[in-house]
Formats: sequence, structure tokens, C-alpha cells
Amino acid sequence: MKALRKLADGEGHVELVEVATPSPGPGQVLLKVKSVGICGTDLHIWEGRFDKVRPPVTLGHEFAGEVAGLGPEVAGWQVGQRVVSESQASSCGACVYCAEGQSNLCPERLAYGYGVDGSMAEYALVRASGLHRLPESVSFAQGAMVEPLAVAVHAVLERGVAFDQGPALVSGPGPIGLLVLLVLAQAGVPVLICGTSKDQARLDLAARLGAAATVMVDREDLGHAAREFTKGDGFAAAWECSGAGPALSAALANVRRQGSVVQVGLAGGPAKVDLDQLTLKEVVLRGAFVHNRQTWERSLALLGDGSLDLTPLISAEMPLSDWQRAFELSRDQAGIKYLLRPGE
Ligand SMILES: [Zn+2]
Ligand SMILES: [Zn+2]
Repeated sequence: MKALRKLADGEGHVELVEVATPSPGPGQVLLKVKSVGICGTDLHIWEGRFDKVRPPVTLGHEFAGEVAGLGPEVAGWQVGQRVVSESQASSCGACVYCAEGQSNLCPERLAYGYGVDGSMAEYALVRASGLHRLPESVSFAQGAMVEPLAVAVHAVLERGVAFDQGPALVSGPGPIGLLVLLVLAQAGVPVLICGTSKDQARLDLAARLGAAATVMVDREDLGHAAREFTKGDGFAAAWECSGAGPALSAALANVRRQGSVVQVGLAGGPAKVDLDQLTLKEVVLRGAFVHNRQTWERSLALLGDGSLDLTPLISAEMPLSDWQRAFELSRDQAGIKYLLRPGE
């Protein structure tokens, strides 16, 4: 079968190569991959800027497909079923986090697509315990977006933030920021989303997705817009999805006293942040990292009952052989989410 693999450390070394179709071992399922999303992580691996990658490895951690084969000791699944797989390939199962159902925090956590072979291939080998049924009403393309949706659902619904206590700020209108917006808007929260003038198209899309206001921070004064939007009170909560230090400073500055800020974006290194706002206003600052099994169930429920529609975020679906063009379009931010269709 064809697989898109990172063959060595450093810049590039990503190639579509022929590999043997794997066969499922105990507890494993073979999936025919119908749709797989390209993520910032994949781009960083391509560019040689992601040190957790263990080449040679097949890329791809956001995917949906059909059960194509069952390993020994797998019960409850049948060939032909439509499924999504959690992106976590393994965790230790013994640490305090695993015991509490928070395996996203397990120090031994490995994910498909950089720690373990992923899904940018005609077939992918996954753990049966990470599978979820994809509702008939949800396309494979939307199924491939459950992973980034779950990142947003975890950040909004599972980090102990009283998200429905007033207007919210979302900074960074990339795929995750737009998904955070969708989850908040679906819950009836008025959202102001901000980016830069480079994000014009993404902010226009945000307005169509339900943002009550959009701000380009290099053209408008965010503080002024925030005061107007919140009638002077400040935001009840903010989700910082860009990973930029100034964006975190702006979130701290524009939430109300004892408001919450959730840092979702990764900065990739130290960032300069005005911490005085944190102290003076007693702001609660939290991180949010990926998701757990219950997050996937929640996310699929939101898609299955029609509460959320992710299709406006899908820029194009392309064959696996066009991966390079799809990666380039993703890198150039010429859209939101590009999907590959390997198993056709
Ligand atoms: Zn991703
Ligand atoms: Zn663990």
C-alpha cells in the first residue's frame, strides 16, 4: 500500500512510499482510511521542526475510515463499520493520570502520526479501544475533523471554565480557534474573535460561523473593541489559540476581574507576557492539551445530533498522491483544513 512517511530527521524527508499492508495484532483493528486531515503538526514534521517525531513513521493523526480487519481478542467491531480513531496510540495505563481517565497527561503517551505509524496511508493499524462509531449522518470528511474538534471541546467544556457566564474572546482564527468559536456559539455564548490583517478570510468565515464580532489587532484597538463588546465589563473568559505572547497578554488584559484565560495554542518556546494583569485581576489561567475518551464521545454527539456542522471548515479533499500540494496550501494558510483521501 501507499503511505506518506517521514523517513529521517531534519527538513523534508517526507515521501509517498510503498510499504506492506500491516496485519492487526491482539487488540488491534485494521482501518481502510477514508479521510485524514493535515494539521500544523504534520507541517512541522515536514519542515523538520517537531522533535517528538520518530522516523521512519507514517504521518496522520486526524482520521476516519472503515473497519477492514480485526486482530485477535477484538470484540464488538465488524468489518465495514464506519469509525473514527482517537489519535492517542498508547499510554502507560498505570500512572495517576491514566487511572483518572486523563491519559492526555500520561508521560508515556504516544500518538499516531509521529510516535506510531499514522493514517496518511491506504490502511492504518489502530487500537480497538480507541475506536468510536461514526454516526451515519456524519461524513468521513467531518469524521476526520473530530480530533481537532475534540481539542476545542476539551478546552471549552472540560477545563472547569464557567464558559457561559458572559461574552468570550477567542484569539487566533486557525482551525482550532474556529472550532472553539463553533463550540461556544453553539452554547449561545457571544464571541469576539481576533486575528491579524493576514487572517481577513478566516475572520470573514468566523463571522459566518457565528462570531458576534471580529477584530484585526494590527488595524483596530482590541481593548477599545473589547470594552464596547462587553459594555465595559471585560470578557468572562478567553481562549488563546494562536500561541503568540502578545495575544496572551491581550487576553489577560481584556478578561474581567477573576475571569478565565485558557491557553490552547503552543508558542514553541518562551513567550513574553504581561503577567501583572494575572495578579492584579486575579485571573485564572489554565492550559488545555488534546482530549480524552469522553471528549471524543461528546464531540461525536455534537456532530451526530446536528448541533455542529464542520463542513464550512473543509477547504478541499484531495487524493493522497496530491499530498505535497495539500501540504503547501496548508502551510500557506490558503484555507482552513485540507483533507486527504487515501483509501479510495
Ligand atoms: Zn492535529
Ligand atoms: Zn499513564
